[in-house]
Amino acid sequence: MGLILLYLAVAGLPLLLSWASNTPPRSFSNEIASGLGLVAFAMILVQFVLSERFRTVSSGLGLDRTIRFHQLMARTALAFALLHPFAYHWLPGPDRPWDPTRQLTLTSDFPSLITGILAFVLLPAFLLAAINHDALGYKYERWRLLHGLGALLIVALLLHHALSAGRYSADPRMVWMWSIMAALAVFSLIAVYGLKPAYQRSHPWRVSAIARLAPHQWGLTITPDGHAGLAYKAGQFVWLNIGHSPFSLYENPFSISSGPSSGADMSFIIKELGDCTSHFDQVKVGDRSYIDGPHGTLTVDGRPEPGIALIAGGVGIAPLLGILRDLVQTGDPRQAVLIYANRTRDQIVFEDEIADLSGVEGTQVFHILQEPPEGWTGLTGVVDSALLDRVFSDDRLSSWVFVLCGPPRMMTSVEEVLMACAVSADRILSERFQYD
Ligand SMILES: Cc1cc2nc3c(=O)[nH]c(=O)nc-3n(C[C@H](O)[C@H](O)[C@H](O)COP(=O)(O)OP(=O)(O)OC[C@H]3O[C@@H](n4cnc5c(N)ncnc54)[C@H](O)[C@@H]3O)c2cc1C
Repeated sequence: MGLILLYLAVAGLPLLLSWASNTPPRSFSNEIASGLGLVAFAMILVQFVLSERFRTVSSGLGLDRTIRFHQLMARTALAFALLHPFAYHWLPGPDRPWDPTRQLTLTSDFPSLITGILAFVLLPAFLLAAINHDALGYKYERWRLLHGLGALLIVALLLHHALSAGRYSADPRMVWMWSIMAALAVFSLIAVYGLKPAYQRSHPWRVSAIARLAPHQWGLTITPDGHAGLAYKAGQFVWLNIGHSPFSLYENPFSISSGPSSGADMSFIIKELGDCTSHFDQVKVGDRSYIDGPHGTLTVDGRPEPGIALIAGGVGIAPLLGILRDLVQTGDPRQAVLIYANRTRDQIVFEDEIADLSGVEGTQVFHILQEPPEGWTGLTGVVDSALLDRVFSDDRLSSWVFVLCGPPRMMTSVEEVLMACAVSADRILSERFQYD
């Protein structure tokens, strides 16, 4: 809530300063037009902070919510920016000497307007490219670089346009405000692409184990190299870079599948998907790696509920296994149930260890398969209301916390079932491995 209020305050700051600038009032439509432009620019500048995975932001909202908010605000800012020139009651002509406060006229000075026109054309193209980046066929890393550079270009154009054509932005206080906000946006890029990597370089890790766990799934363990490791909570994730310079863009988010109580090593379960994860057969023990983290809010530390329901689909087991391992290792008194859904039996990872964990008092495990092999005695089908009814009594549904991680369709349907069973939203924690 605090972050949302801060966001509104920052996005609304140019309106407040414009109002305080004591310039003579204009027609309503021109005030609206200026307001739209000012708010759109402020929102675009805040986008840098929203997209740069600062822990204060992503730990408050959760990374997937932060990214969704970033996407939603990008669309809103675009709508404001596109409406901005059309809302003006346009009186073309040169700046009149008798109207220095531009109460009655708008600037038609070409150099001031051209940067706004360029930004006006680039913004929708930029947003469309971001929405369709998968379909465009760019490697994720290349897309990320282009996205960052494109955003910087648009901000430079908008800054020039606001300072040279804007009525309110000409006010010295506004010039300061835009300069500080633009500097913070640029600093957020420097922090993520310069300062964080520099820190990572002084805190390297080494691959200490790598093994194929199941078809298309790898188990990876890294060990801190010359430092104490990372303070994290079970269920969180890091950006992991294996074998590349910390200053490169080659890093991917992976949930930690070990618990902090197991020591300084960190483990991951990684599913082959694209150009990075499909080359895990080339990762060797001793390879240098770097991490940025911890991030994420998928954690049950400090939760008051008496029981924890962990519902995993496929590789979504990674953070939930981290939580379960940690609960058992620390002798946590809360009860825990793990439901682990897969399509086929050979996709189950750490089957023996999970069987051992289910033997611990207060812990239950249910495997469910969509395509069970002959002789399978576990559950079959998908995680649906019948299964949840069977596993969770009314008492559990009304008092436990539910932690979900799996394919987007499964998460959406389980969330709907849980809500239908009167599980309140604050007792459902989830992490999506894909933003769109
Ligand atoms: C919070 C979180 C936790 C995750 N935990 C796990 C896990 O424990 N195990 C697991 O197997 N997978 C996990 N994933 C998914 C994993 O990050 C992607 O499968 C992996 O990045 C794909 O990379 P690739 O280069 O092989 O595939 P690509 O084909 O390059 O990418 C496929 C898709 O993965 C996403 N992606 C790729 N690179 C990045 C990046 N640097 N940052 C953000 N998204 C990216 C994009 O949506 C992209 O379109 C997690 C994702 C998130 C967001």
